[in-house]
This record gives sequence, structure tokens and C-alpha cells, in this order.
Amino acid sequence: MKLKNKITTVTLCSAFALAGLAGCAGGAESKEVATTSAATESETTKSEETTVTQVTAEVAGGLDTSSMGVAANAAEELNAGNAQYLAGEADMNISADLREKLTNGQKPHTVVITCSDSRVPPELIFNADLGELFTIRTAGNVVGEFEVGSVEYAVDHLGSQLVLVMGHSSCGAVGAAVEGHASGNVEHIIHEITPSVDEASKTETDKEAIADKAEDLNVENTLSKLRESSVIKELEDAGKIKLVGAKYDIETGKVTYFEK
Ligand SMILES: [Zn+2]
Repeated sequence: MKLKNKITTVTLCSAFALAGLAGCAGGAESKEVATTSAATESETTKSEETTVTQVTAEVAGGLDTSSMGVAANAAEELNAGNAQYLAGEADMNISADLREKLTNGQKPHTVVITCSDSRVPPELIFNADLGELFTIRTAGNVVGEFEVGSVEYAVDHLGSQLVLVMGHSSCGAVGAAVEGHASGNVEHIIHEITPSVDEASKTETDKEAIADKAEDLNVENTLSKLRESSVIKELEDAGKIKLVGAKYDIETGKVTYFEK
């Protein structure tokens, strides 16, 4: 994604409207950043766009990049990407040129662990170009040895600085765990999610509320599993990577982060 000359005030206002967020009309909470190069690049097509509006994380509801340390740039990419997706202006680079450049190697800024649900495609949700996201998907975003090993590879060998565990609303795997029945190998997935359902059942009564809370707790459970890896834990403790949890709303398209 090219943050510089593609985010306009209009774009972000649209994103806020879709996300149900206020604060766009006055512009008081957003800062205008002069971007000479962006204007030059785009003047042949959109000469009226002489400024780029970068919105603070608080307004956008995204990650606070000031607290993301080494992962600040990655967080900024995710914030901007989801805003563009929300505005219906996703324009990820999947060009032949980029594909050819990437034959020299990959350097994905973020590892995304999320559900296999067809409504939750990370590359689209974050308007991500080829090579930007290292993605691991399982039903219910649960992780075992293969998945944790994949994360280790990305953070230790590819230089990914942000690890995002993203659950989602109306997750079928969590729903199955709430119902308490599964067959075949799905049982392994349900077994992993059940402790989150049990925990949620302590404070919630109806199934919908239990599932909603269990989806969040299940993300925390996956984060805990990742931190059991000495490779991941040591990199996190050394400030070389950031781990964050989030939830994707399949209706609004918005990503809400647990850590701000
Ligand atoms: Zn799911």
C-alpha cells in the first residue's frame, strides 16, 4: 500500500463514517501533512490533491503507532490499509513488476494469525501489497507447533516486526465450541477454544454474549501460546517485535485492537 498519496481527507471521512466514528468534519483531530513528493507524483491525475491527511491512531481507532516501537511503521501500514478498505478504496499492488522484485526475497512487515473464514482475508482487510503480510490461518485462529514455528520463522528470519492475532465476530469455530460439539479433527480445534468458552461462561449467560467474549479470550489464548515460544518471547522482551491482539467485525469491516 502506498500511504503517501492515496489517503485523502475525503477517503478518511468515508472511513470514519463507515466505522461510525466522529471527529472528521472539523478536522481538529487530524493533522495535515504537506507532501511535496506525493503531490508531484500524482499531479498528472489528481492535481487538486496537494496534501495528505494522516489521522491520529485515536481518531482512526487503530494502533497507536507511538507505542509500537520497532513495529510503528507496520502498525501505520495496517491502520492506513484498513481505513482504505473501509472506504472501499483498496488498491493493493499485485502487479507483475512487484511480483518480479519479490523474487529476490520477502520482508513482510507483519505476521497475521487469523481465522480461515472466507470473510476474513487479511490481505484485503489491510489493503496489503504482495510481500507485506506473512499470513497464518486456521479455523478459530488457534495455533499448534506448525503455526508457532511459522511465526518463529517470520520474526527470526524474515524480519517481521509486528505479530497480529486477529479473531473475528461470528466465528464458526468459536460457535461450535459454545455448542460443544464437533466431529473428526475439528475436535482438536474445539478443544483449544473450549477454555475460552468456559471462562466467558463465568460472566455471560446467553450464547451470543458467551461467543462474543470467547472470541476475544481465544485471541488472548493464542497470544499466550505464541509467548510460550522462547524465540518469540525473547524477541518481544528485547523490544525487537510487538505482539498485539485484535478483532475483525465481519459486518463493518473494521479492525479493533485490544492493545492501543
Ligand atoms: Zn472464525
